[in-house]
Amino acid sequence: MAKELFAGQKNNRYRILISKEAISKKNLTPLLKEHKKTLIISDDGVPTTILNKVISVSKPSTKVFKIILQHGEKAKSVQNFQKILNFLAEKNFDRTDLIIAVGGGVIGDISGYVASSYLRGIQFIQIPTTLLSQVDSSVGGKTAINIAAGKNLVGAFYNPKGVIIETSVLKTLPQREFKAGLAEVIKYALIKNKPLFSLLKLNAKKILSMDPHIIEEIIYASIKTKAKIVTKDEKENGIRAILNFGHTFGHAIEAHGNYKSILHGEAVAKGMKVASKISYLENLISQKEYTEVISLLEMFEFDLSLKQYKYEELKPYIFRDKKVRKGKLNIVLLNKISNAVVSNSFNTANLQKGLKT
Ligand code: NAD
Repeated sequence: MAKELFAGQKNNRYRILISKEAISKKNLTPLLKEHKKTLIISDDGVPTTILNKVISVSKPSTKVFKIILQHGEKAKSVQNFQKILNFLAEKNFDRTDLIIAVGGGVIGDISGYVASSYLRGIQFIQIPTTLLSQVDSSVGGKTAINIAAGKNLVGAFYNPKGVIIETSVLKTLPQREFKAGLAEVIKYALIKNKPLFSLLKLNAKKILSMDPHIIEEIIYASIKTKAKIVTKDEKENGIRAILNFGHTFGHAIEAHGNYKSILHGEAVAKGMKVASKISYLENLISQKEYTEVISLLEMFEFDLSLKQYKYEELKPYIFRDKKVRKGKLNIVLLNKISNAVVSNSFNTANLQKGLKT
């Protein structure tokens, strides 16, 4: 049976539906019926079966147009942003029309940013098709594109009208992408969701073999945690920062590799190891808790080696992070398992030591 959750405040509240076959007329029609025209944005790595299913359940409630971008991080470009805006204008889309993002976080991010900007905002729906986008990027309203100076430097907080999570689409996802998405699931367990921590520990094998029931459970648990946090703090002025656990170091590792050698989730797994080590060095968690975190990451077969990264090389990226405020680096640490805190008063020597593990 479909599971549902809600996120967002007042007029910006939206429903998140999670089920094996969530892309259906029953679920889409209520979201589409007041929109004459709909633009579906996707990329050429998303299986056409998924795209065709979205198109067929959307008709005849709305007139469907589509734009298929080339897959990959490069799709989040200013050029594509402009291309989509021009397309919308040429087809006379107005404020009552709609955008649907069908794809991973790349498609969700650029589609959401287009939706936030065109005519100062038109509505959009997220249909995430990667594990990372199903457990993380489709909820929370962060939208973005990349510019030469860096990733996600341009964007807006803009909530979708709804999120439809069909878990069966994950069947075609390459194992490496699937595992990278699991890093974000582990993040929710470590920052706030103890039952999820136990669920992951007890079911690692089933999860790695993509057992559909347990996958649905972990998606639900992850989104439940994310929805609570982003609803409390829509624009990252407070608690939302804990969602960046492992990300300051993860982003530095990704940037150091020019976003080519390592996937986001793989870098975040290494970043969570560093942040947990610093938490231990800061006497916030015990050695036993630190070991528990590492064993969980190892159960999901993450490569946690940090040997190839020198502190001096990562440092510029660490301090260029969006989490530097008033010259001080804010990092997310654990003060026990499933409880994260933001700190800017840690001993900086421990940053270096954390990376040496
Ligand atoms: P992605 O969107 O690049 O998708 C990965 C690959 O999988 C692509 O080649 C895509 O074509 C393919 N794909 C998508 N669905 C598929 C399916 N069902 N079967 C087979 N292949 C499929 O990568 P991602 O990991 O989903 O997202 C990464 C992006 O998300 C980054 O740009 C990151 O900045 C962003 N992000 C945003 C947020 C947020 O809150 N907005 C949070 C985390 C990450």
